[in-house]
Amino acid sequence: MKEIVFATNNSHKLDELRAIAGDGVRVISLAELGCHDDIPEDGETLTDNALAKARWVHERYGVACLADDTGLEVDALEGAPGVHTARYAGPGHDAAANVELLLHNLNGVEPDRRTARFRTVMAYIAKDGTERTFDGVVEGVITGERRGTDGFGYDPVFRPAGWTGTFAEAGPDAKNAVSHRGRAARAFLQFFEQQ
Ligand code: IMP
Repeated sequence: MKEIVFATNNSHKLDELRAIAGDGVRVISLAELGCHDDIPEDGETLTDNALAKARWVHERYGVACLADDTGLEVDALEGAPGVHTARYAGPGHDAAANVELLLHNLNGVEPDRRTARFRTVMAYIAKDGTERTFDGVVEGVITGERRGTDGFGYDPVFRPAGWTGTFAEAGPDAKNAVSHRGRAARAFLQFFEQQ
């Protein structure tokens, strides 16, 4: 079976990629690789960050590696938090604080002006150092309050276009079928299966 290291310390992202990859590809975590680094992500773009994470692992372990960087772009906030999505409420703050700040900053914004999208860039580095990136986007809106307990991060306040509920109200299969990460991962897997 083909194998790929996924350079993330986020167990939710790992679970999602494993579910999307199914039995076709074995997804190896950083912990399984023996890497416990807090990989820096201070680039200017999602692509910079995804490549930096993949390069970090490739340079130290010499393995083929995949990394993902995700941003939430909110139109009423001129695309913020964007590349700063993980640290929106400041360093050391958790997802709850990020969501709280987002809802606060959108307070009073009408439902039809709360459009947003999740964007994921996945960066792949082959063992020989060849690099490729894959994008995935899902359009939606930021709800007025949290709904649902599944998923992670901003999922309780993101309702994909055409849905009646948030990502956090859907099971993992429904999320992966339309999500930013699902789309980027399937593009990667289609490429990877040909390698
Ligand atoms: P990063 O890609 O690990 O830098 O994540 C950026 C931020 O987006 C973090 O705050 C994550 O919790 C959040 N995030 C990433 N992917 C998702 C997702 O699929 N749903 C909700 N939040 C996400």
